[in-house]
Amino acid sequence: MMKKLEQLYEGKAKKVFATDDPNIVLVDYKDDATAGDGAKKGTIRGKGVVNNKLTNNLMKMLEEKGVPTHYVQELSDRETLVKKVEIVPLEVIVRNVAAGSFSKRLGVAEGTALKCPTLEFSYKNDEYHDPLINHYHALALGLATQQEIDTISSYAFKINDILKEYLLGFNIRLIDFKLEFGRLPDGTIVLADEISPDTCRFWDATTGAHLDKDLFRRDLGGEEEAYQEVMKRLLGV
Ligand code: UDP
Repeated sequence: MMKKLEQLYEGKAKKVFATDDPNIVLVDYKDDATAGDGAKKGTIRGKGVVNNKLTNNLMKMLEEKGVPTHYVQELSDRETLVKKVEIVPLEVIVRNVAAGSFSKRLGVAEGTALKCPTLEFSYKNDEYHDPLINHYHALALGLATQQEIDTISSYAFKINDILKEYLLGFNIRLIDFKLEFGRLPDGTIVLADEISPDTCRFWDATTGAHLDKDLFRRDLGGEEEAYQEVMKRLLGV
C-alpha cells in the first residue's frame, strides 16, 4: 500500500501529493470550479468524484488502444496514483464542432460542424492567460521539441477518433476538448492531467443539451446533474 506523503502542488481542481515511490504521485480531485480565467469561482458538488472516475475509465480505455497514459491505479472516489511526469507546458485542444473561443475568435456559429478536426496549442502560462500559439512558437520558446510535437499531435488526433466513437455509443457528441501531456524520466511522452466534463465539451447527441462545464461557465445551471448524468451513461453509476 502506497503512502500519501506531503502535498506537492494545489491547482484549481486537483491536489497532488508525493508517495513513498519517487516515480508515482497521488492526485486528489476537488469539487472547486473556476471559469473565465479565474474570475468566477464556485463548487460543483460531486465533481471531483465524477472527474476522477471518468478520467480513469477513459485513460484505461485509451491505453488498451495504444495511447500511453500516466494512469496507474484508482485508490478511492477522489484519489488516483499516476506516474510522475514533467508536464509539457502546452494545452492541446482538438475541435470537431465550433464552440467557445473558436466561435468568438473566428465568427463561426457555435454548433457548426468542422470539415475536419482541428488542433491548436496554448502556452500554459497563467500570467499571460494561456495565449494561443502555433507550433513554431512552441519550438522557439523551447516548450517542446519537433519530435515531441509530432508525437503529441498524432496522439491528440488518435484520442479524438477513439473518444468520439466511444462517446457516441452513449449518445454524447464530442464537440472539443483539451489535453495535457507529460514526459516520463526517460523522455517518453504520455497523456496526463484529466479527461472530464471540465476539459471537454459534451453535448447530448439528440437534444444538444450541454453536459459539461459550460453550464457553470455560462451560469446556465444544472451542472451537478449534468456531471452525474455523464458518469451514469459511461460508468452506469
Ligand atoms: N479547455 C480547458 N481548459 C482551458 C481552456 C479550455 O479544459 O483552460 C477546454 C474546454 O473545456 C473546451 C476546449 O478546451 O472543451 C476548448 O475551449 P475553448 O478554447 O473554446 O475555450 P473557452 O471557450 O472554454 O474559454
